[in-house]
Order: sequence, then structure tokens, then C-alpha cells
Amino acid sequence: MSKYWSKLAAGVDPYVPGEQPKDKKYIKLNTNENPYPPSPRVLEAIKTVANESLKLYPDPNGDELKRTLAEYFGLKKDRIFLGNGSDEVLAFSFMTFFDSGFPILFPDITYSFYPVYANLFKINYELIPLNDDFAIPVDQFFKPNGGIIIPNPNAPTGEYLTLEAIEEILLHNNEHVVIIDEAYIDFGGESARKLIDKYPNLLVVHTLSKSRSLAGLRVGFAMGHEDLIEGLNRVKNSFNSYTLDRLALAGAVEAIKDEAYFQVTSKKISQTRERVTQDLQIMGFKVLPSKANFIFISHPSVKAEELFLKLKEESILVRYFKKPRIDNFLRVSIGSDDEMDNFLKAICKIIA
Ligand SMILES: *Cc1c(COP(=O)(O)O)cnc(C)c1O
Repeated sequence: MSKYWSKLAAGVDPYVPGEQPKDKKYIKLNTNENPYPPSPRVLEAIKTVANESLKLYPDPNGDELKRTLAEYFGLKKDRIFLGNGSDEVLAFSFMTFFDSGFPILFPDITYSFYPVYANLFKINYELIPLNDDFAIPVDQFFKPNGGIIIPNPNAPTGEYLTLEAIEEILLHNNEHVVIIDEAYIDFGGESARKLIDKYPNLLVVHTLSKSRSLAGLRVGFAMGHEDLIEGLNRVKNSFNSYTLDRLALAGAVEAIKDEAYFQVTSKKISQTRERVTQDLQIMGFKVLPSKANFIFISHPSVKAEELFLKLKEESILVRYFKKPRIDNFLRVSIGSDDEMDNFLKAICKIIA
């Protein structure tokens, strides 16, 4: 606390990211990073622009990246908004769409950045409790609201809503914006992007951090009706014209273009997830059905917090949330096959 802080700075309750410890080498299964490196074409593209051109500002509109995404997804370019990671896209979206006075709705167990943004921007919200099995209760999103945000698949549970379920929610909500945060959609789900033509209040948010192995480059984007995108650009251009730097723009273009690499690595992760799920179930773990690059697990007799601490002693980091309803679960990111074999070995020893 400092007397120099604004009321805003004093009043916020910041998000706490997963640890990035530097004391020793860990197997990092705690922040849903991709175990595979970015496409070699991405690294080449970044090296190519790491030259004198850095003295110049980047393209404030990111036109080439927008063109690449538009072509890839079969959308018009003015239906795409770019941001410095999807966290930034989400922050701009909260500012652009949510202030009707009605509370916005999101699940009680979900991405913990949503309540942080709501508090920062003074937006009322109402938590929709997940069912006992952690499924999202779709009909609870039919009540009056000032907007909706849902991650699909949800985090940290990994549970997935079908396109039909998303459409149900849209059919009951046309007065305010519905945001579907698809950070993990590439690991087995079907994107709601297909519904953009039909629902002018649908915003679908993606990131290159997870499925494109580029958490360190900070690139996210949103897809939606051009009027929504125009609103986002108004806010963004009132804040920072150059949210994406030259290296990020160049790398992101190649990440989208290298479809073959993307297909191989994302399929690999889904396969590893299924194998690890089976092995954990054999050991007695409850594993929620996941379509993400992580699993949410609980053991009937060994407490999650104890597992978390013992895994850390074995130099394996997973994510533990000391929060109501989920304090006996661990979120485990899917690493490479080698990393997961080490994880399985360690966890087998701990529960024995
Ligand atoms: C990881 C994540 C994001 C943010 O990703 P960026 O790295 O900021 O692009 C957004 N939403 C959810 C649900 C996530 O898990």
C-alpha cells in the first residue's frame, strides 16, 4: 500500500499466474504451455525481421496477420481483432461490451482472470455454479444478464460444451455479447466460429499460446461481427496503437501458415492426454473428461495438496487451486510423452 496509489490501484485484486520458478529444472505441467517447440518456420520468420526494421513502428492494424487469419478461417478481414495475448483481447472485450448495469454471467469454476477484469472495470457479475460433475448448466445462462463469458473447453476442468449447447445459449441471449473463450479448442473441440454469421453478438476468442506453442510471443485474436470488431478497435486505439510488435506479427503469420506442424503437435497432445487419462484411472484417479491440453484429477485417498507438494519435491510442477469445490483436484498440463511418463512414475510412487 502506498499513499501515491490511485483508488483503482489500491482496490484491485490482481490475477496470480502459475509459477515460473528458476531455482532448479522442473517438468512444467502447471501453466498449460505446449511441450513442443514452435514451428521452425516461426523462428525463421522472427529472425528475418530481427533487423534494422525494428527502428520503425509495427503495422498498427496487423494487416498481414489479419489477412492470414481471414484466409485460414474463411472470414472477412474486418471480422478479426488482434491483441497482445488473448488476455488482452479479453480485457478489451470486457471494456467494450460489458457495462449495461445487469450482471454478466460466468461459471463459478472457470478462468480466474474473469473476476479480476470485472473488478478492475467495475462490472457486476453473477457466478453460475457448475453441476456436481462440473458440467456447465446451460439453462442457467438463460436468465437476464449484461453479457456472458464461457471458456470452451472450460478451465481448469477441461469440460467441453458442444456447438449445439453454445447455440442454445445464443438463442436465449441476443441483447448482449456472448464471449466464447476458445483458448483450448484445438485439442479436440469444435469452434463456435461457424456461428458468427448467424449471431452478431457472438465473439470467439483464440490464442496462439497453447496450440501453437507461442505463449512467449503474446498473440491472441477475436472473431466476430464487424460491428463488434470496430468497437474493440475503438477501445484498443484509445489505449495503445501498437499492441503487437514486429516480431510477434511475423511469427504469428508463419504459425498459422504451418498447418502441417500444427496438426501433428496438437494431435500428439490429444493422444497423450487419452493415454495418461487411462493410466491414471487404472491407478484409481478420478479424471474429468477433457478436450483441452490439461486434465483435472482427484485421488480417492491421497489429498491433492499433498500430491502437489510431493510432486514438487520430485521436480514436477502441476497446478493446485486452494479454492472451494476444487481444493482436492490437481490440474495437470499435458507434456511430451517422456514428461508424462516421469509424471506417472512419480505419482504412482507417491500414492503407493
Ligand atoms: C491461457 C488462457 C488464456 C490466455 O492466453 P494468452 O496467453 O493471454 O493468449 C485465455 N483464456 C483461457 C481460458 C486460458 O486458459
